[in-house]
Amino acid sequence: MQEIRDNIMSILGNIKDVCMRTGRDPDSVTLIAVTKTIDPDRINYALECGIRNIGENKVQELTAKYASVEKNVKWHLIGHLQTNKVKYIIDKVGLVHSVDSINLAREIDKRAENAGLVKDILVQVNVAQEETKYGIEYEEIDSFVEQLSMLRNISVKGLMTIAPYYEDMEMVRPVFRMLKEKYDMLAGANIPNVEMRHLSMGMTNDYEAAIEEGSNMIRIGTGIFGARSYNI
Ligand SMILES: *Cc1c(COP(=O)(O)O)cnc(C)c1O
Repeated sequence: MQEIRDNIMSILGNIKDVCMRTGRDPDSVTLIAVTKTIDPDRINYALECGIRNIGENKVQELTAKYASVEKNVKWHLIGHLQTNKVKYIIDKVGLVHSVDSINLAREIDKRAENAGLVKDILVQVNVAQEETKYGIEYEEIDSFVEQLSMLRNISVKGLMTIAPYYEDMEMVRPVFRMLKEKYDMLAGANIPNVEMRHLSMGMTNDYEAAIEEGSNMIRIGTGIFGARSYNI
C-alpha cells in the first residue's frame, strides 16, 4: 500500500514541476485516480492519501464497488457508456467523460431530468481517428456540441480524449494540441449550456506532455496502483 502513497506523491510532484515550467497553478490540474480492477481497500487507501476523484470505465464494476468506497469522493465515468446502463450511474457519477452520441446524450438528459438534476458531461473525441477507440470525429465537434446545448438536463463542461499509444511521448503532442485549440475556440463561443471547464487528457504514459499542451484533468491508473491484473 505504501507504494500507492509514494506513487501519488511522485505524480503530484511531477504535476507541480510541469506547472512551474509552464507558468500554471498546480491546483488547476485535477488528478483522477483510475480504479478499474482495483479493490475498494486500495481505493480507500488512495483516498486517505488525498485523492478526491476516481475514474471507472465500466458501469458494472462501478456499481459493484460504489457502496464500499468512502463517500468523500467524486466518481468519473471514463469508459464507453451504453445507453441502457445510464440509469445505473445517473445518481452516482459526478462527471461523464465519454459522451459520444446524441442518443446517449438524450438518455442522460432524460434520466437526469427524472432524478431532478443536471448532469455534467464531457464530449469524447477520437482525435487520431483510431478504429479501436470511441469518440466523435474532430470535425463533428461543433455540430455535436450545438445539439447538446439544447438538452436542458445535461451541461457540457469540456472535452476528453484518449490519445494513441506511442513509444515516444513527443509523437502525441499534436493530438493534445488540436483538442486544446478546439477547447479554446468553444470557450470563446458563448454557446448556451456549454462551458469549457475540463480538458480531460493525459494518462500514465503521457500526462506530462498533456499538461504541457493544456490539459487540466488527467486520468492515471497504472502510475498510481501499478500494473493491472484483469482477474477480479
Ligand atoms: C484505464 C484508463 C486510463 C488510465 O490508464 P493508465 O495508462 O493505467 O494510466 C485513463 N483513461 C481511460 C479512459 C482508461 O480506460
